[in-house]
Amino acid sequence: MEFAANKSTAALVALAVLWALEGWIPFFHDFNERGKRYPHAGRNFALGAFNALVMGALFSGLVVWASTQARGSGMGLLSWLGLPAWAETLFAVLIFDAWMYLWHRLNHIVPILWRFHRVHHSDPRMDVTSGVRFHPGEIALSFLFRIPVVPLLGITVWQLAIYESVLLPIILFHHSNLAISGKADAVLRWIIVSPNMHRVHHSDWQPETDSNYASVFSWWDRIFRSYRWREDYHAIHYGLREFADLGWHTLKGILKTPLHKQK
Ligand SMILES: [Zn+2]
Ligand SMILES: [Zn+2]
Repeated sequence: MEFAANKSTAALVALAVLWALEGWIPFFHDFNERGKRYPHAGRNFALGAFNALVMGALFSGLVVWASTQARGSGMGLLSWLGLPAWAETLFAVLIFDAWMYLWHRLNHIVPILWRFHRVHHSDPRMDVTSGVRFHPGEIALSFLFRIPVVPLLGITVWQLAIYESVLLPIILFHHSNLAISGKADAVLRWIIVSPNMHRVHHSDWQPETDSNYASVFSWWDRIFRSYRWREDYHAIHYGLREFADLGWHTLKGILKTPLHKQK
């Protein structure tokens, strides 16, 4: 489908550009040692490709069906509001980003969701490929929750595609190992989730892990009081302490992560 191709193109272009920039102006220079960078990227990319191709093929048709049914019968918040098209699209992007904030926060609170979401956090280093490191179980659960949420909000397939075309490059950007100036980051994080803001979310210290949940717009964290900042963002230690062992970072280890006894 055309919209699926558009958002995949946006994601792949962002991935390629950010990967090249990371090689050129990295935040952590030692992340670019070939012997580490490539195997790390390979595993994360394999997960991302599996999620996009297999999980996407399994579930996205259901989301499209739920959205089409709802809009066809005039159901859902956006149908009821009857806004002009441009305002409706803007509102759809905002409200779906608010849902993404809530969904991410639930992933940190609900034990069964956290079992899967731990895979995203256990990454001991953070680069653009960390932005696609999600357990297929988390992707399946996020699709299952979208199936009722999309018709309740009355979001159209196109509005969802527009949102995702913005979401995916921004997610890749705020995971990237890119040295941007502290000032530029400060300006960006008033509007979107910046790399330095999301670094705090990947800290292995739980009060920081449980903060900065936003995906696109940073203000959800400010509104719902989960925004957290530290000046020494260079010193953040990434990952999860109980998954420090290298065995957790092979593809097999990553896939087995949800089975590990909860702490
Ligand atoms: Zn998280
Ligand atoms: Zn992340």
